[in-house]
Amino acid sequence: MGTHLVVKAWGEQARKAATGALKEIRRIEGLMSAFRRFSDVYRLNRHAGVSPVRISPDTMKVLEYAVEVSRMSLGAFDITAGPLISLWRRSIASSALPGASMLDAAMAFKDIFSLKLQPDKGRGYLSGRGQTIDLGGIAKGYAADKATEVFRRFGLRSGLIDIGGNIAVYGFREDGRPWHIGVQSPDGERGEVLGVVEVVDKAVVTSGDYERFFETGGEKYHHIIDPRTGYPARSGLRSVTVVADHGLAADAVSTAAFVLGLDGGAELIRRAGADAIFVMEDGGIYVTRALLGAFRHVTGGVVKTI
Ligand code: AMP
Ligand code: MG
Repeated sequence: MGTHLVVKAWGEQARKAATGALKEIRRIEGLMSAFRRFSDVYRLNRHAGVSPVRISPDTMKVLEYAVEVSRMSLGAFDITAGPLISLWRRSIASSALPGASMLDAAMAFKDIFSLKLQPDKGRGYLSGRGQTIDLGGIAKGYAADKATEVFRRFGLRSGLIDIGGNIAVYGFREDGRPWHIGVQSPDGERGEVLGVVEVVDKAVVTSGDYERFFETGGEKYHHIIDPRTGYPARSGLRSVTVVADHGLAADAVSTAAFVLGLDGGAELIRRAGADAIFVMEDGGIYVTRALLGAFRHVTGGVVKTI
C-alpha cells in the first residue's frame, strides 16, 4: 500500500498465518487502491457520472462506514474529496502550492451524497462526472482487521500487524504481557516515541501532520485535508492516536478527529466507542479517560484527560 508493512506472528501455524495475512492485505489493496487498474475504487472513479459498477462486499463495507463517519463528523471526513486530495498530493510531491482556480475546481467535486450504494445488489455509483473517491484515510485500518481475522483462523497465540502506522495487535504479547505501542514524537526521528500505550486485542491508528508534508513561506502543508476549507487541516493538533476494537473505525475516526481538533475529535471518538491520545501543537497531551492508566508519557510531561 505504498508504505511499510510488518507482520509478526507466534503460534504453531505462525508461518502460514503470516503468509495468509500478507496475502489478505494485498487482496484488500487490490480492491481499494485508486491507482490499481481494475480495483473497485478505480472502476468507481472511472465510471463516475456514467454508470454503476460491481463492487466487492469488502469495499461495500468500507464505503458504507466511510459514509457513516462522514455524517458523524459533519463532513470533516469525506472520501469524495478525491480530486482535492490528489491536488494536495501533487502539491506535496512538487513542494508547490496549488493555484486558487485549481482548488476551487477540486472543491466542487466533493459531495458525499453523490455516492450511491446498493449493498443488496453489490453495486456502487458515483453520480457526478469527474468525481473520485479516495480511501487513503480508511482502507489500511480495514486491511489490518482482515489480517487479524486470518490470525484467528489459524489459531495464533499472539500477533501484530503494522500497515504504515495502522497497527492491530492480536492477543497478548508472546511473553504474556500487554503490547506496548509507541506514539511517535511529531518532531523526532521516525521511531522516536513520546509515549507508550499498553493494549491487548486492539487497533492503534495514528493520523499526524508529520507523515507527508512540505513547507513554504513559513507554513506547513500536510496530507490531511479539511474538506470544508480545501486546505490541510489546522486544528491545533500534531497527531491523534485512536485505540479501538477495529482498525476500520480507528483509521477513519483518527483522520476525522485530526480535522475536527481536540473537542470535536474527542466527541466523535466517544461516539465511535473508541479512545484516543491527542498531541497538541503547544506540546500538550490529552487522553480519553479510559486510557489514563494505559498510557505512559515517556518524557515525563503532564497528561490531561478529555
Ligand atoms: P490517515 O493517515 O489515515 O489520516 O489518512 C490520510 C489520507 O487520507 C490522505 O493521504 C488522503 O488519502 C486521505 N484523506 C485526507 N484528508 C481526508 C479527509 N478529510 N477525509 C477522508 N480522507 C482524507
Ligand atoms: Mg485514517
